[in-house]
Amino acid sequence: MLSVSDARSRILANFKPLGRINLPLARLSGRILAEDISAKTDFPLFDNSSVDGFAVRISDVSGAAAASPVMLAVVADIRAGSYSGIPLHPGECARIMTGAPLPPEAEAVVMVEDTDFKVRLAGTPAPATVSIYKSIRLGESTRHRGDDLHAGDIVLTAGTLLRAQEVGLLAMLGMPEVPVYRPPRVALLSSGDELLPVDAPLTPGKIHDANSYILSALAESAGVELIRLGIASDTEVDVRSRLQQAVDEGADIILSSAGVSVGAFDYVKSAIEADGKLDFWKVDMRPGKPLAFGTYHGLPFFGLPGNPVSAFVGFEIFVRPALEQASGQTPRPHPRQKARLSEPVESDGRESYLRAVVTEEQGQLTARLTGHQGSGNIFSLVQANALLIVPSGVKSLPANSEAEIWPIK
Ligand code: AMP
Ligand code: MG
Repeated sequence: MLSVSDARSRILANFKPLGRINLPLARLSGRILAEDISAKTDFPLFDNSSVDGFAVRISDVSGAAAASPVMLAVVADIRAGSYSGIPLHPGECARIMTGAPLPPEAEAVVMVEDTDFKVRLAGTPAPATVSIYKSIRLGESTRHRGDDLHAGDIVLTAGTLLRAQEVGLLAMLGMPEVPVYRPPRVALLSSGDELLPVDAPLTPGKIHDANSYILSALAESAGVELIRLGIASDTEVDVRSRLQQAVDEGADIILSSAGVSVGAFDYVKSAIEADGKLDFWKVDMRPGKPLAFGTYHGLPFFGLPGNPVSAFVGFEIFVRPALEQASGQTPRPHPRQKARLSEPVESDGRESYLRAVVTEEQGQLTARLTGHQGSGNIFSLVQANALLIVPSGVKSLPANSEAEIWPIK
């Protein structure tokens, strides 16, 4: 039987980034950058004030204190977005607003709170003179050209997930659009004669299709586009026509659940064999031992197990990293933590991902299982906030021992 990590490596060997598109800033959030970005200019681009106050020459205010203020002539009034070329001579200063460029010869800025000009009303004109109550050091309350970035610095690398902060940086750098990878189009199929759409009344022997919703929610959280293929009945002709729809609609990846075991009506497997290539593996894990992977008309195909918990775990272990890689990212390992077991845990020697509740008790993470671990029991996954991992080859973990956990988002 394949180990989880070998199965994952074999799967990941099939995925590489798709094409690129240029997108405007307003549509970048959640996309993956396709090119390194360097700063075209220094940032900040000009020396400026970080407070509202008075730009001064340092020697003019060296002895200033509340008991011995220094009076300076105000020779310019520099608001944000404006520029003053008037140099400061000894005994002179300029009123200046946050973000406004320093005038020539200014060496620091005295906050308005440290002067006798404390008027806060918008529109108040600059005074003719101002008394400074504090001596300040060179450069105080100023920001200098190139403090943050220099022209030519690589600021973002290809493969970076663009979040609000990266989008903000690109805007600051004056980049109206950047190249990103095209997100994969994932075709999603459920299969089984027992499945009914969620809005259909149940009849004897039927259940609602949960996997379509579990897997679409997970896939959307990975930033992909979805093509919904609905529910295939357990006939080869229906399975094949829905898989063909995935090809016709331009899918990059097919994600299906159920119909890949050894049951008499497991037609997904035979449909893939007919029009593609099937690697069908037994993976040394629990839940989710049967995992079908292959290609259908050249498109990567995942056949996840039908039981909802197995489908969830299979997605997190095998599909999410593949989608990340197809999106242009280096797959991010799940954050792992250690927790102390509050009860003994049994396993069957397969690498197990058990549903658990992890709480913090006296500064220590403590884990207990959420009831029975049947892979059809979606409610126990809802109650869990983590998956507890029992390594391959381990059949029991005693109470109070440490185990690895994956927090579930
Ligand atoms: P199978 O892999 O087809 O043998 O299905 C295994 C189990 O998963 C059966 O109990 C199915 O009824 C159940 N199952 C399959 N697909 C779904 C689905 N889309 N939603 C909920 N349960 C499912
Ligand atoms: Mg079935």
